[in-house]
Amino acid sequence: MELNERQERIIEIVKAHSPITGEKIADILNLTRATLRPDLTVLTMAGLLEARPRVGYFSSGKSNDSLVADRLRKLRVGDFKSVPIVVRESTNLYDCIVTMFLEDVGSLTVVSEGGILEGVVSRKDLLKATLGNTDVHRVPVGVVMTRMPNIVWTFADEPVLLAARKIIQHQIDSMPVVKVLQDAMGREKYEVVGRFTKTNITAILVELGEIHLVMGGK
Ligand code: ADP
Repeated sequence: MELNERQERIIEIVKAHSPITGEKIADILNLTRATLRPDLTVLTMAGLLEARPRVGYFSSGKSNDSLVADRLRKLRVGDFKSVPIVVRESTNLYDCIVTMFLEDVGSLTVVSEGGILEGVVSRKDLLKATLGNTDVHRVPVGVVMTRMPNIVWTFADEPVLLAARKIIQHQIDSMPVVKVLQDAMGREKYEVVGRFTKTNITAILVELGEIHLVMGGK
């Protein structure tokens, strides 16, 4: 958050004199309490100042940057995920391509009975398949998809920062969001409950930036 000069001054004053009332801060700055009020509200909402009724303002000791980092660390995949767009392994390539257009997505999640994760197929997988003599009406997506256990997945409680790191590390555009289940033999299976994409990450970036604006940044 970018503070204006007056907000910077307020922080300095509170650091030097805390606890200090709004009234006193206004006196020092030679302003009216009413002029000062919006700045105090912004700084308190941003977590840079703490207000205690009938005592006054304290400095929270937090810097701007650490506040954004704190907020980012608290965000979870589940709060930003999109709905999964799924097909079966037997779905032919033609229908996969049509589904991608209709749903406006860049990849599909391939599931078996009960929404269990089996694979992922991206637009380049499909493009590659159509370069050969493939009969797109006949060939099932199971032939060209990337298959478990090679799928990189995430889960609703995962911090978005860690999920974003996986996307970068593995050079992929999206990951299925899964719920881990156990089958009768105690083996893990993964129920697909969402999709976490680069677009979701862009939305997070915008939200963090807009928090700055709401908090009175320039
Ligand atoms: P594209 O290259 O088509 O724009 P991606 O970068 O997401 O899309 O996919 C690149 C390759 O990685 C493709 O072969 C795709 O099947 C595979 N892939 C995509 N998502 C995942 C994932 N979550 N886990 C493992 N492999 C994936």
